[in-house]
Amino acid sequence: MGTTLAEKVWADHLVRKGGDGAPDLLYIDLMLMHEVTSPQAFEGLRLAGRKPRHVDQLIATEDHNTPTVDIDRPNPDKTSALQLSTLEKNCKEFGVRLHPLGDADQGIVHAFAPILGLTQPGMTIVCGDSHTSTHGAFGALAFGIGTSEVEHVMATQTLSLKPFKTMAINVNGKLPADATAKDIILAIIAKIGTGGGQGYVIEYRGEAIRDLTMDERMTVCNMSIEAGARAGMIAPDETTFEYLKGRPHAPEGEMWDKAVAYWKTLKTDDDAVFDKVVDIDATKLGPYVTWGTNPGQGLPITADVPDPAKIADATERSAAERAIKYMGLKPGMPIKDIAVDTVFIGSCTNGRIDDLRQAAAIMKGHHKAKNIHRVLVVPASSRVRLEAEKEGLDKVFKDFGAEWRNAGCSMCLGMNPDKLVPDERSISTSNRNFEGRQGKGSRTHLASPAVAAATAIRGTISSPADL
Ligand code: SF4
Repeated sequence: MGTTLAEKVWADHLVRKGGDGAPDLLYIDLMLMHEVTSPQAFEGLRLAGRKPRHVDQLIATEDHNTPTVDIDRPNPDKTSALQLSTLEKNCKEFGVRLHPLGDADQGIVHAFAPILGLTQPGMTIVCGDSHTSTHGAFGALAFGIGTSEVEHVMATQTLSLKPFKTMAINVNGKLPADATAKDIILAIIAKIGTGGGQGYVIEYRGEAIRDLTMDERMTVCNMSIEAGARAGMIAPDETTFEYLKGRPHAPEGEMWDKAVAYWKTLKTDDDAVFDKVVDIDATKLGPYVTWGTNPGQGLPITADVPDPAKIADATERSAAERAIKYMGLKPGMPIKDIAVDTVFIGSCTNGRIDDLRQAAAIMKGHHKAKNIHRVLVVPASSRVRLEAEKEGLDKVFKDFGAEWRNAGCSMCLGMNPDKLVPDERSISTSNRNFEGRQGKGSRTHLASPAVAAATAIRGTISSPADL
């Protein structure tokens, strides 16, 4: 019997087979680090008197706690300032390469690494951050790990892991012009639920996936964790190779040819069997948006807010009741009638150059609606910011009345100055709409950059077709 892509990468990194229920030991090619989940790992290493096993396979950036304005001034938030200075001190002491705030390669941990060509097909990549699944877009086996595991990888460059189950999600047919990668993944999570991927590594397959750019594939894999999956992967192909060629860390010359020859073997065999298969008809998809407080509570933008009284399952009914109350909505109201206060375009899900181009194309020649307090456009990395400025996208955003910021996690989560106030409602291109995610009492609707841009123009949740 053949093997799946995930099983191939696993087998190529096996240091020791566990057996008898014991975990396998896997070699880890690359570990990404940031200021939030690394301090305890460095401290553990320090206390044990150890040094990193392969320091050149660790790389750090600053993203969660960084301000996105006035980055040259001292950070006014003491906790954030301490987190960042601790990372800088630790990286210096242990010799870990760091891209700090202000560096041209600084950015969200899942955005700066692919741009540098550090993320490559067939790798094992870990980070103390759940959205590490993003890197699976290149055919890497990439997943988030806990703090003690971060320390283990630093000390040994290996990780003990129990094998995952495998799931194929086939997104069949062509995606309609008004649907995007974000709509694909929101539709998948709405279908399989936030626990639907638990215990699995998902492989996204099918024509609609093959047609996506690398930025779009990263959007899909990024949100695998929101379906509960350990990781998401897409087999590498010409789109992947074209993206990687010439990037600073991509192989060159003869090594490039050898790498591509290996990368071409990284695909699921025709006779491989997945533990679970889900089929999605891409031709039926359109813009999606969440109405509730988890990423699975999403619907097509043309739908109404669900009426909990019509939900048969008691657990789902009570979750919907609670979500609707928290979100300040009414059952049965059209999603398109929901007026928002703030628009956030950014994050490791949708802060890449393709996303900014998509938003700018819609905003160009318009101005933000009167009821919109603020529109934040936050590139996912400093390189994305530079590229956007080269293309004049910053001018489009500023003319629109948006704020053009420096790179960072920003309003994806309330860990830096970019927060919502209680009851403030946002449409956000990020990945989590949990209660309080964007600040205490904040209300978040997840959507694509296209929907966020159209909403910023009309003031109510809208798709570009409504303009
Ligand atoms: S942008 Fe949001 S989800 Fe992504 S790494 Fe930052 S905080 Fe996490």
